[in-house]
Amino acid sequence: MSSVEIKPDVMPYLCQKAEEEGKSITEVLDELLRLMLAHGYIEQTFNLRCRSCKHEIGYQINDYKAYCEYCESIVFFDKC
Ligand SMILES: [Zn+2]
Repeated sequence: MSSVEIKPDVMPYLCQKAEEEGKSITEVLDELLRLMLAHGYIEQTFNLRCRSCKHEIGYQINDYKAYCEYCESIVFFDKC
């Protein structure tokens, strides 16, 4: 996993939010991105692939599973 560099002008916000909610900065960022994707502030243009056949699968953000039409199986995503 690549590391993320945060510019210093937004860093205090992230630190504060993380401290208030007892979360890590990574968790705060993760939540923000999910919120933005879920509400359409940023478009979800990427596709996930099935683990067994590598076929693209339809996935909505925050789903924990998706259905692969190619190998007709349900693909689960681990929460990491
Ligand atoms: Zn598949």
